Amino acid sequence: MKFGRFTITPVMFASFRLDGGCMFGSVPKNLWSKSIPADESNRIPLVCRSLLIKDESRVILLDVGIGDKWSDKLREIYAIQLEPQTSLGFNPEDVTDVVLTHLHFDHAGGISYHDASGTLRLRYPKAKVHLQMANWEHAQHPTPKDRASYMPENIDPLKEANVQLCDGSVEILPDIIVHRVDGHTPGQHWIEIVAGNERIFFPTDLIPTSHHVPLAYHMGYDVCADTLLQEKLAFLERACQPGVRVFFQHDSDVPWATIELTSKGQFVAKPL
Ligand SMILES: [Zn+2]
Repeated sequence: MKFGRFTITPVMFASFRLDGGCMFGSVPKNLWSKSIPADESNRIPLVCRSLLIKDESRVILLDVGIGDKWSDKLREIYAIQLEPQTSLGFNPEDVTDVVLTHLHFDHAGGISYHDASGTLRLRYPKAKVHLQMANWEHAQHPTPKDRASYMPENIDPLKEANVQLCDGSVEILPDIIVHRVDGHTPGQHWIEIVAGNERIFFPTDLIPTSHHVPLAYHMGYDVCADTLLQEKLAFLERACQPGVRVFFQHDSDVPWATIELTSKGQFVAKPL
């Protein structure tokens, strides 16, 4: 897809499943299961989808998927099905910039891999890795609430990478702006891509799927629900403006949508 001076391609790294109750927090199952049914283990289907953005001088990847460093037991628990690296349509060596929204395993797991000798290596050895300073610090001392999502094998290799830490809302690359939000985990950022009057919003785990667009539908994983809801409302008010399309990273069916505000004051996703 051409978007201004960029060529933008969705990249599907993997499918997986998580408990539907965890994914919808305090929303009862008889409500959320109408929009996305659960399997016999109460899990819902999800994907790890990223965007590959090319211009004349850069190859930019927004998040890197769940990675392949999984035991058979965890692969089964999360029903992880990986797309082969060779079918992703790009060479990791060519990537100049990786923007990590945060270091949870389903966003940063693909940053490293074990080579044939079992040594942990960086998957994108030439890339600058852009990350919020607050998330980098939190990932090294996570609290019990989201400790299980920060795996040392995804964080320690970054000490050898060209990490560029940012703080707040920053244009990290020309026409690519990150916005810090703290409700899901400290120092997450959602990403805005600009082309003239048009915008792509990449909300990452602020709104992981199109089923999470209604304001009260958010994840039990979020470290601070009040903060998240304020950040989500601010995001949705911007996302329903003309010229904005939204890319859902974890939605197995709906990657792209616009956001509309109904006459009843509710935000709804309109798949594109
Ligand atoms: Zn996620």
